[in-house]
Amino acid sequence: MKVQNSQLRPAVFFDRDGVICEFVDELSKFEEFRFRKGIAEAIRLLNQNGFLVFVATNQPNIAKAKMTLTELNRIHDYMVSELSQQGAKIDRVYFCPHRTAEGGGVVEGYIKDCDCRKPKAGMLLQAAQEFNIDKKNSFMIGDTWRDVGCANSFGIPCLGLLGGGGFPYPEDSKESQKPQPLKIFSNPHEAVQWIVKNG
Ligand SMILES: [Mg+2]
Ligand SMILES: [Zn+2]
Repeated sequence: MKVQNSQLRPAVFFDRDGVICEFVDELSKFEEFRFRKGIAEAIRLLNQNGFLVFVATNQPNIAKAKMTLTELNRIHDYMVSELSQQGAKIDRVYFCPHRTAEGGGVVEGYIKDCDCRKPKAGMLLQAAQEFNIDKKNSFMIGDTWRDVGCANSFGIPCLGLLGGGGFPYPEDSKESQKPQPLKIFSNPHEAVQWIVKNG
């Protein structure tokens, strides 16, 4: 059945580490997970304005044997339910548990040069199969060039956040040569306010 335009909804894809939660290098324990300030308000504002809300996160720690799937699910269950209690609904969480052997992958079944690890667009393409997304009015919010690369290859702009694990990159760094965000904001709530006003 052909999807009518009126059935399409704009979406915002959030990176997790450094965007939903405070950036911790290779976060692998439940106790290390702390929400970024203003994230519940940001997601609530999107819900109120009819946006679908997704999380798309690389979690190579699974492939690297630094975290179990049980622990990752525990973190994501907490993330979704805690936000939900604050009136902020996440429609679905997508994660990439893979890593190549060269990248440090050691767990059988997860050692893979997959299509879902950002900057590839696999997780967003999956969301587009599962939901009726109005791509023209959709955005990603991330803190690294990988998020920008993923968003752009899916065909949507990426807004960048300061205070995470990436932006701003030093001018002479190799990351500064990678795809850069449309605009940069100090926190998730500011980015979402801009989307609701200008998106
Ligand atoms: Mg991140
Ligand atoms: Zn993957």
